[in-house]
Amino acid sequence: MINPVRKNVISVRTKEGTGRLLPYVMPHKWLIARAVVFMSIATAFNLLVPWITGTVLIDQVIIAKNLGLLPWVVLALVGSVLISRIFSYLQDYDLALSSQRAIHDLRMDFYDHLQHLHITFFEKRHTGDLVSRVTNDVDDIDDMITHGATVLGVQIIMLIGGFIALFYLNFSLTLLVFITFPILAVIIRYSRKRIRAAARIVKATTGEMAARAEETISGMRIVKAFTREKFEVDRFSSKSIKSMHANVRSTQVWSFYGSGIEMVTVLGSALVIWFATPSVVAGTFTIGQLVAYLAYLSKMYNPILGLSRLNLIIQRGMAAAERLFEVIDIRKENTAQRKIILPKTEGRFVFEDASFGYDPDRLVLKNFTLKVDPGEIVALVGRSGAGKSTIANLITGFYDLTRGSITLDGYPLHKLNLDSLRSQIGIVLQETFLFSGTVKENILYGKLDATEDQLVTATKTANAHDFIMKLTQGYDTEIGEKGVKLSGGERQRIAIARALLKDPRILILDEATSNLDSESEALIQQALDILIKGRTTFIIAHRLSTVRKADKIVVIEDGGIVEIGTHAKLLKTKGPYRKFYEAQFMEQKAR
Ligand code: ATP
Repeated sequence: MINPVRKNVISVRTKEGTGRLLPYVMPHKWLIARAVVFMSIATAFNLLVPWITGTVLIDQVIIAKNLGLLPWVVLALVGSVLISRIFSYLQDYDLALSSQRAIHDLRMDFYDHLQHLHITFFEKRHTGDLVSRVTNDVDDIDDMITHGATVLGVQIIMLIGGFIALFYLNFSLTLLVFITFPILAVIIRYSRKRIRAAARIVKATTGEMAARAEETISGMRIVKAFTREKFEVDRFSSKSIKSMHANVRSTQVWSFYGSGIEMVTVLGSALVIWFATPSVVAGTFTIGQLVAYLAYLSKMYNPILGLSRLNLIIQRGMAAAERLFEVIDIRKENTAQRKIILPKTEGRFVFEDASFGYDPDRLVLKNFTLKVDPGEIVALVGRSGAGKSTIANLITGFYDLTRGSITLDGYPLHKLNLDSLRSQIGIVLQETFLFSGTVKENILYGKLDATEDQLVTATKTANAHDFIMKLTQGYDTEIGEKGVKLSGGERQRIAIARALLKDPRILILDEATSNLDSESEALIQQALDILIKGRTTFIIAHRLSTVRKADKIVVIEDGGIVEIGTHAKLLKTKGPYRKFYEAQFMEQKAR
């Protein structure tokens, strides 16, 4: 695995894709070597064909009127082609196997790396573009290795074999033909850069198009509710047109150079015909030799034409590799400085002058100082945008402080290994995220190896068991993408069951603001009461019942704490909490 640590989380462009791909290909070198052996045998038999049809069939059978040789000629022809095809088949299989193994390793490195990137990376990137990298771009690299290696291997062997045959047939003519090769080399050299640049644009526009499609498809309910179908089609169309132009341009570029190369090959054949035909007339060069010579020449030019086409595949593959390595080069979030493995935590937090901003020049949290004892319930209360979710983001290690400190059981939070920290934190968010799959699979996400008993206990405690049993297939019911087939309240209870199964020492609860019906709300509340028991709990509180129960209510305004205390104490103080309480919670009380 190659994951060089870079200082920056921002993207870094990787220049050399070729060298970076080698570690993926090298483990399969023996398989590739075997493929090359098969390739050589296949090509050698393929090269026999012009010899048989030219010098043997024309010169020794037709012109010499020796029909006795004909069966052998036919047998040799069919045999050569058959053997060539058998070895081609074996070569294709070996190459596909080695290339697919290399591609699988690369894809897994990319995907594994992606899982460990900092959350800010995902805020900056478009999902569709990333998906396009792991699918389209990986395919392009596969194309490059599979077809590239096949074509390259066959063509090089063909070139060498062809040259030997050409020199053998007519030494001086071959020297003359050589004039065309430097011209070809120059064209190929100049075409490379431009083809790669065009391929890069194709990749980028494909990524943009995928990103737009992904966003629209996942937000289809909103699109329809706002009747913005046409608007979305137009927006996609502009991306699609960009991609179309980029693809046409890319084809134009390689076709231009391809035509140039083809012209040079025609020039080569013209030279041969011009200079060799008088020798045939004079009888110093036979017709069969001329036919064989032209056939070999075209077999040699073919690889060169193929190489120019291959150039496109390679440049496209390289542009794709750059896009994969660009991500692989980004530093993982669980870095070397997070060395401390958190033992079983008590859940004691101390925030000291904690300041933080998502953008360095705009602090969202300012000099936040707070002590939280093990098992305490802390209700974070404040206006929208005050910074409540930000505190949850800091506790889970999604972001690091700009200034000040947060400790957990005395350990600096920013030095804690993230797996050891997050495995002890449970999160229930108001926007419950469930994965497509069955109810059971979603709950087990909290503890993959949970027993059936643990699973049912958790769902019963979360007041989810009864509604699950009423679903058509119970625990095995498919819930659709992001759980669309469940109601908001049901999704929440599944999320609570998931958190219960994880059994974390620390809990972050973002209460739903949406008004659930009173029965559903009561069921959720009951489940939450059990869930928070004995755990250090931070609640982003929207409900009066929760706030009342809290050991500490922390009132946040503009990123700072303006009041701390119990419900009763803060009501008496008649400070910001009381105002907030009157504005926000009185309405709930009245209900
Ligand atoms: P709400 O009750 O509406 O959820 P909140 O108190 O939880 O609000 P936060 O989500 O903590 O508020 O946001 C605090 C501020 O930080 C807001 O001004 C918001 O615009 C900003 N903010 C939140 N997340 C990000 C982010 N990922 N990048 C940049 N700014 C952010």
